[in-house]
Amino acid sequence: MSSTIGFIGVGNMGLPMIRNLIKAGHGIKAFDISAEALEAAKEAGATIASAIADAATDTNAVITMLPQGQHVREAYLGTGEGNPGILSAASSTAILIDCSTVDIESAKAVAERAEREKRSMVDAPVSGGISGAAAGTLTFMVGGTKENFERARPILEAMGRNIVHIGGSGLGQAMKICNNMMAGIALTGTAEAVSLGQALGIDPKTLHQVMSTSSGQNWMMDTMYPVEGVVESAASNRGFAPGFRASLMAKDLGLAQAAAQTTGTGTPLGALTASLYRTLCLQGGGELDCSAIYRLLHGDSMKP
Ligand code: NAD
Repeated sequence: MSSTIGFIGVGNMGLPMIRNLIKAGHGIKAFDISAEALEAAKEAGATIASAIADAATDTNAVITMLPQGQHVREAYLGTGEGNPGILSAASSTAILIDCSTVDIESAKAVAERAEREKRSMVDAPVSGGISGAAAGTLTFMVGGTKENFERARPILEAMGRNIVHIGGSGLGQAMKICNNMMAGIALTGTAEAVSLGQALGIDPKTLHQVMSTSSGQNWMMDTMYPVEGVVESAASNRGFAPGFRASLMAKDLGLAQAAAQTTGTGTPLGALTASLYRTLCLQGGGELDCSAIYRLLHGDSMKP
């Protein structure tokens, strides 16, 4: 069944997600603070909204794809007089789906408010990167009631292949944080092994050929190989233009560390990887793709 969907946050992920929703027959009302992003949404076939509340009004569903918890809180709760949020603007029958990756506390706080205001909401962060968003093969990790999960599912199916109900509100984010901690560690390990292999005189193509069919194989290596001219989808072919920005990876690794602290879990590799990504950002690599961790380990310049 086709729906009218408010979509807020038309960035690297949001735009290809919108394209797939339109392809599936849904109508999109898009909002972003960037005029350039709105222009791209218009070209993709979306109607442009003038504000968050405008995008959320008269819709069957609202999707948010924003950078951080603070943005999500402001989008749902509003920022005061004259700037209402999604919870005030959306109809009580709309399903509200936050696909951003944010801290568990923000996800739970917004979900609790939504429940108090009799709105139906799920947290549904994604994995699969911009290539998965473009191909419509994302994995969605959903937190919320089973009933709200079932309401969100048909919409998520237009953008993804694996739609998994993890548990109650916030558990989608918890799942995503665990996954991205592992992804960051795997990517850093890949960059380290490639850098060592090159220092030992092995061609980067040979390193990939062997490791991708040996015990070192991992998804980050197969899609984001950090040396150009080897893996077509990799940002290394485009001067490390993102993709998934290093600053967002640093954010996710930080969220994992906060969750490890709260639960008293030992995550030494996650802590080290978080620290390496913070260093990458401090050295000017935050706007590059996360695979630019290779530049840090290989001693390369951070210039695009
Ligand atoms: P992005 O920075 O490319 O896009 C975010 C968009 O949100 C931008 O266009 C920005 O202008 C807009 N925005 C910011 N504040 C806003 C506001 N108050 N109102 C309206 N629009 C606002 O980021 P992205 O790469 O698309 O990532 C979005 C989310 O998805 C993040 O939480 C990220 O961690 C997560 N994620 C990204 C990837 C990836 O590969 N890029 C993969 C999985 C998950």
